[in-house]
Amino acid sequence: ESKLKTVDPEIATAISHERQRQQENIELIASENFTSLAVMEAQGSVLTNKYAEGYPKKRWYGGCENVDTVEQLAIARARKLFGAEHANVQPHSGSGANMAVYFAFLKPGDKMLTMDLTHGGHLTHGNKANFSGKFFEIVHYGVRKEDELIDYDQLAKMAREHRPKMITVGASAYSRTINFARMGEIAREVGALLLADIAHIAGLVATGLHPSPIEHADFVTTTTHKTLRGPRGGLIMCKERYAKEIDSQAFPGIQGGPLMHVIAAKAVCFHEALQPGFKSYQQQIIKNAKALADGMKRNGYRLVSGGTDNHLMLVDVGAKGLTGKDCQIILDEAGITVNKNTIPFETRSPFQASGIRLGTPAVTTRGMKETEMAAIADMISEVLMDIKNLDTVAEVRHRVRELTARFPLPY
Ligand code: PLP
Repeated sequence: ESKLKTVDPEIATAISHERQRQQENIELIASENFTSLAVMEAQGSVLTNKYAEGYPKKRWYGGCENVDTVEQLAIARARKLFGAEHANVQPHSGSGANMAVYFAFLKPGDKMLTMDLTHGGHLTHGNKANFSGKFFEIVHYGVRKEDELIDYDQLAKMAREHRPKMITVGASAYSRTINFARMGEIAREVGALLLADIAHIAGLVATGLHPSPIEHADFVTTTTHKTLRGPRGGLIMCKERYAKEIDSQAFPGIQGGPLMHVIAAKAVCFHEALQPGFKSYQQQIIKNAKALADGMKRNGYRLVSGGTDNHLMLVDVGAKGLTGKDCQIILDEAGITVNKNTIPFETRSPFQASGIRLGTPAVTTRGMKETEMAAIADMISEVLMDIKNLDTVAEVRHRVRELTARFPLPY
């Protein structure tokens, strides 16, 4: 019997509707996933009751013996998973992880060279609307017009010209392999610190399916909830020589008490990611992304950079005279969840946008494979062919329900 239903029926109902939405729809938001029941159990545990300011064996409060075990396990597993010298598992989010790194090693006004949001970067990489753009002087690099790939030569030139204190690399909407080794060379040449933000590709990196930045970057940050399939949260990894500054910036620098229930869930996620099955999962994510990309191309769509090497792709719906916003809304009606996204050299406002971003981590967790990806591409195309045709939307929604019913979630 649900306690929540009795105590707070309004919230219980909203959660129940959300469970149904997740069950019935096709989730293609590249940054989302479905955690295991074990991750949820840890997150919904008594650990939420505990204050544990500080670090294992160095807490400000008593009664921390069990949460110490939890945090030590989380740290050891994160280090093993990524081969990192040091890990801090306390950041509440990916944004917080980046903030801790910046504040530990930069002063207000220091210069950073970062990837432009509209070229695939993240808000926390110096966007004006974000703290990072307000505190620091930002110079942006982007992708090349001809092939929409990061132009490392141009980047090296900018680094020499601007002499940034820190360079960031990592993206929210870049579908190609990132050359972390080259980024390391560029940063070292100009004496800049390098932060690699692998929030999106962490699962691929952990399983060796994307080159790792660990050797090449001074700091590596990530979220734990995207391809990594854990709870919502952040993680910082760095060389041992930076450990002290990073830890004291995470707490007490920018955060208070750590969310011990989330840290326990992160530990479970890292444990799951260390199992052999996790690599086949990540391999299937990539295969599915290729199949979905092929399906979109078969239906006449242009993909930014022509395709994908990872778990996501950007579809240029602007080339078909559509806006990302209209596509997002009508696909939602059909039970297919995507997000509008600007594309490099965007001509529309970010509220309209010329692209939609599609990712395969969530549908792969459900067990879908290449055949289902081809079918999903056809469904997307049918809806977008005539976004005013509500009969098509209803017909596709029916097929979406049939498909998702064959791949049930365990919740
Ligand atoms: N960094 C990158 C590259 C991301 O894509 C994201 C999330 O979208 C973040 C950082 C921020 O993570 P959070 O939403 O947990 O603050």
